[in-house]
Amino acid sequence: MRKKIFAYGIMLLMISTCTLQLMSRQNNIFKIASQGEGEGGFLTNNNLNQKKVYLTFDDGPSDHTAEILDILKKNKVKATFFVVGKETEHAKKMYQRIILEGHTLAMHSYSHNYDQIYASVDAFSKDLMKLQKYLYDVTDVKPYIYRFPGGSSNHCAGDIKPYIRYVNKKGLLYFDWNALNEDAVNFEQTSKQLNDKILKDVRRQKTSIVLMHDLHETKNTVKGLDTLIKTLKKEGYLILPITKNTKPLHHVSIDK
Ligand SMILES: [Zn+2]
Repeated sequence: MRKKIFAYGIMLLMISTCTLQLMSRQNNIFKIASQGEGEGGFLTNNNLNQKKVYLTFDDGPSDHTAEILDILKKNKVKATFFVVGKETEHAKKMYQRIILEGHTLAMHSYSHNYDQIYASVDAFSKDLMKLQKYLYDVTDVKPYIYRFPGGSSNHCAGDIKPYIRYVNKKGLLYFDWNALNEDAVNFEQTSKQLNDKILKDVRRQKTSIVLMHDLHETKNTVKGLDTLIKTLKKEGYLILPITKNTKPLHHVSIDK
């Protein structure tokens, strides 16, 4: 009898250890999956051939981020935020909301200072690692998706290839865009003008990555966002966040 009780005890101990391990693994899986693969963010066999749109917002957080997140939530849509490093309490809350609400928190440099970032690969690396560590400290999730300031085809870096090589070496995935509204080029455009530009690009492609900005000055982008999402949905586009499963879109690329 004593032997039996002992055996049951060992069994129970083993089961509870496994359960604990499983729970902690599921927790980790949840953390990874929460980067942009929540509701409305799945690619399945049924929608593989559907036209796709990835909405991306650069340069935030800003005083519009909360409103952008509210609009996305209301429309049950997930997006990608290529953020910069800001240390205010508001910014920290926004990084956390981006993750908690199932969007992709992606990196766009800490300083967004082109001269500084593209001074050398070493300077570039310091800036990028600073942002990655900072976002990890604030959100508990390590971001791995990146957008070069100015895109990979920018003219500030001189030869971008050493920078791309560095990004590849770090196991990061970078994304450019093939649809845009030029909201950061001309702040005076109305929300209709901004949306018309995006729709013109999107309608001639099967998959679009849309570049928009989350800046104090780009308020008309936010003003038109609800209409843009509703129009895209009505026209049959699947709106998705960028994840590791997204087909890369590069203005400039190199063989790994
Ligand atoms: Zn930018």
